[in-house]
Amino acid sequence: MAFVLGLLGTYTHISALSLSVFWPANVTCAALIHRYGLARKPASYIIAYAGLALQDCTHWGWSLPPFLFNAADLVFVLVLALWLSRSRIIRQGQNDVAAFFHLILACLAASAACAAVGGPMQQATPYAYASLTQAVFGWFTEQFYTSILCLPFLLSLFGGKVHIEHPISLTWRSTLPLLSLLVSIGLSLSIGPFLILMLVLPALTWCAISYPVWLVQLITLGTGCVQLIIASIHVPGLVDMWGRSVPYMLSVLRLGIAAAIFGPLLIAINMSTIRRLNLKLRQQASYDFLTSTLSRFGLADALSRYTTLREYRDTRMNIMLIDVDHFKRINDSLGHACGDLVLKHIAAVVHDTVPEPRLISRIGGEEFMVVCFGYEPPVFYALADTVRRAIADTPLKHERRDVLVTISIGIAYSEQAGINLEKTLWSLFPHADHNLYTAKREGRNRTVQ
Ligand code: GH3
Ligand code: MG
Ligand code: MG
Repeated sequence: MAFVLGLLGTYTHISALSLSVFWPANVTCAALIHRYGLARKPASYIIAYAGLALQDCTHWGWSLPPFLFNAADLVFVLVLALWLSRSRIIRQGQNDVAAFFHLILACLAASAACAAVGGPMQQATPYAYASLTQAVFGWFTEQFYTSILCLPFLLSLFGGKVHIEHPISLTWRSTLPLLSLLVSIGLSLSIGPFLILMLVLPALTWCAISYPVWLVQLITLGTGCVQLIIASIHVPGLVDMWGRSVPYMLSVLRLGIAAAIFGPLLIAINMSTIRRLNLKLRQQASYDFLTSTLSRFGLADALSRYTTLREYRDTRMNIMLIDVDHFKRINDSLGHACGDLVLKHIAAVVHDTVPEPRLISRIGGEEFMVVCFGYEPPVFYALADTVRRAIADTPLKHERRDVLVTISIGIAYSEQAGINLEKTLWSLFPHADHNLYTAKREGRNRTVQ
């Protein structure tokens, strides 16, 4: 891996500028060593060093500089792999802001250590920069920029967080952020390098809001590389204008690119945290904790989703309103805990007896609503009565005693569910409630339509 990625780094080398646009070998080696728990195994570093040095020597010839430069690369791999494996937040694979800042810190430390070794070594070779400061700055920015670009995506990839099998729904709308990014990159081809950083930022931010974190990490990785390539095309012009050296200007640009992708990456992580929280809250609000049936909110939410489907709108809606008989007595004689058990039991029987598609909701203390579609009235009556009998025939075990529970059911139906399913449901409710009342009055444990 070290050899192959080193080769990639070499071939993205702009020989006229004597600079590597992209050097993913170090960061990938560190991420792999961390991923496979090899950070404390010296052999992993020796192999990485051998791969990198061999690649450099086969390309540049057998001489001392490749061995010196790769020693600096090794320092980067060593510091980053050790840092990643020691950080508890990163080890736990968290994908939040705290973990992101740990990542940045790890990249900073590894790049600084690498630059402290690589800069002086560079000055001792024929490839020396204009000054030691520039050499250190050059090494630091190359390592920092590449690691910020690659590491977030690599950790998602190796951590199994890249789920290509669940893509964001591919509509023309969902591709708009990416298209706008491509357009802004296209535009920046004709504009100077400093504007590139700003021009793509709105589109990059749009991507960060719209896509999953791993995809944003991949997009920022690609955008960063393209930005530096575009920048390297413009740099000679800037050198004429400002009279600075090319490597120095590129180093400044690398830092600019790292800074420009920092914001979108952070936004993507925040968005995923917000989405996760929203989903959790929605689930909590949608389900009744005790019986795992839908809450009233969950029922309304599900019905509004069903409304978008023609198969439900154009068919009959059938509802059953279920109420436990003498539930107060069960609570009073056997305790509230037993009452809770009864509610769970009833929800489970309804769940097992009424085939899908159906919505089961606990709409009140001991009242359940079951919403079905497309049943002929006699068929639905038979189904409801099956539920009633199933409850009456299966006594509940509580503290080694059989608890006999019965329910009463009131039924109602509409000829057409219509465009607003929730409205239809609540218009049927008084009718079902009236039938339930009749069932109670006639002695309970019965189904009335
Ligand atoms: P009926 O046959 O006429 O329906 O009689 P009932 O006793 O079932 O009717 P009532 O409405 O008087 O009693 C409902 C009881 O349900 C009162 C309340 O304490 C109890 N209840 C409501 N929610 C819960 C709950 O979450 N757990 C338990 N254990 N009891 C609950
Ligand atoms: Mg009741
Ligand atoms: Mg009751």
